[in-house]
Amino acid sequence: MILGLGNVGGIMRNNGRYTASEELMALGCGDLINITDENSRHKNIDFPGHKHAWLYDVNTIEPAVRDYVRSMGIKINLISRVIDVKKDGNKIKGIYLSDGTYVEGDVFIETTGSTGPMGNCLRYGNGCSMCILRCPAFGPRISLSQRAGIDDLQGERKEDVLGAFSGSCKLSKDTMSKELVDELEKTGVLVLKVPKEDINLDKLQIKVCQQYALREFAENIVVLDTGHAKLMTCYYPLEKLRKIKGLEKVKYVDPYAGGKGNSVRYLSVAPRTDDMKIKGLDNMFCAGEKSGLFVGHTEAC
Ligand SMILES: Cc1cc2nc3c(=O)[nH]c(=O)nc-3n(C[C@H](O)[C@H](O)[C@H](O)COP(=O)(O)OP(=O)(O)OC[C@H]3O[C@@H](n4cnc5c(N)ncnc54)[C@H](O)[C@@H]3O)c2cc1C
Repeated sequence: MILGLGNVGGIMRNNGRYTASEELMALGCGDLINITDENSRHKNIDFPGHKHAWLYDVNTIEPAVRDYVRSMGIKINLISRVIDVKKDGNKIKGIYLSDGTYVEGDVFIETTGSTGPMGNCLRYGNGCSMCILRCPAFGPRISLSQRAGIDDLQGERKEDVLGAFSGSCKLSKDTMSKELVDELEKTGVLVLKVPKEDINLDKLQIKVCQQYALREFAENIVVLDTGHAKLMTCYYPLEKLRKIKGLEKVKYVDPYAGGKGNSVRYLSVAPRTDDMKIKGLDNMFCAGEKSGLFVGHTEAC
């Protein structure tokens, strides 16, 4: 699939992202915003720390974006992994794929993101959580700017601790009570009380989305309807989750090990100029999370 972590996201247009979305559209580059708008299950919903959020359906978004990209005449190489670059001075001449293919180009845009791979999730997180990137099946992320000799920058969640945990999981609606699912599908959001003995304020510090690291998210379980039920916490032990009324039989669908961990992000950012050119390289640009410590899809746009 294309879209990377966008396959498990969903929240758009909340808070300042509304303005950012409208600006992107006014600037003539709102194509992806139009597609997420069209695939929204809920519009203008509020939950702690978030106002007027729109929620796209994570189960319909990828084919919609893929079809649109193809309709623009862009060729997508699926199941292809870039493993190295060929350089001549500061110029990238071409890239090597894992099957040995060599592809030449005039200009390259590095969009490999900042998440994982497995070794990093083990070193800086709680191990591979079997997230949407599927590193064990498709191979690890490779920083192409680093392969070209430009050192990555890395984010710290506290002094000398690198990376930050992704801030949400997905639960299977089929394993939740009918009452909860009906309410979730009607309103888009559930706020369920965490039993007193299970409230953990320390966990707020480890997540990517620090602007939403609010007390409400430790004292409550916040669930959003993005097709699956999006649980707004990095991870939550399954046994504790099943103590909550209506979640007695609940299961994780993303990441599979959501009971103990999540993907670790912010591990690979390219130093760049404001026109997105990677410093030290003549013809490699970057975009998305690779270009800064950004929290979400809108910022990646
Ligand atoms: C669980 C979770 C929930 C989220 N929820 C939200 C949300 O509700 N709202 C929001 O705005 N944002 C959310 N985000 C963040 C958002 O998904 C990311 O900010 C965004 O997807 C970043 O886009 P990107 O293209 O820069 O990187 P990525 O999405 O990481 O994509 C990078 C892609 O590059 C591929 N790749 C890496 N190395 C190679 C290589 N060598 N060769 C070929 N391909 C390679 C990867 O497989 C991946 O497909 C969430 C993220 C997670 C993990």
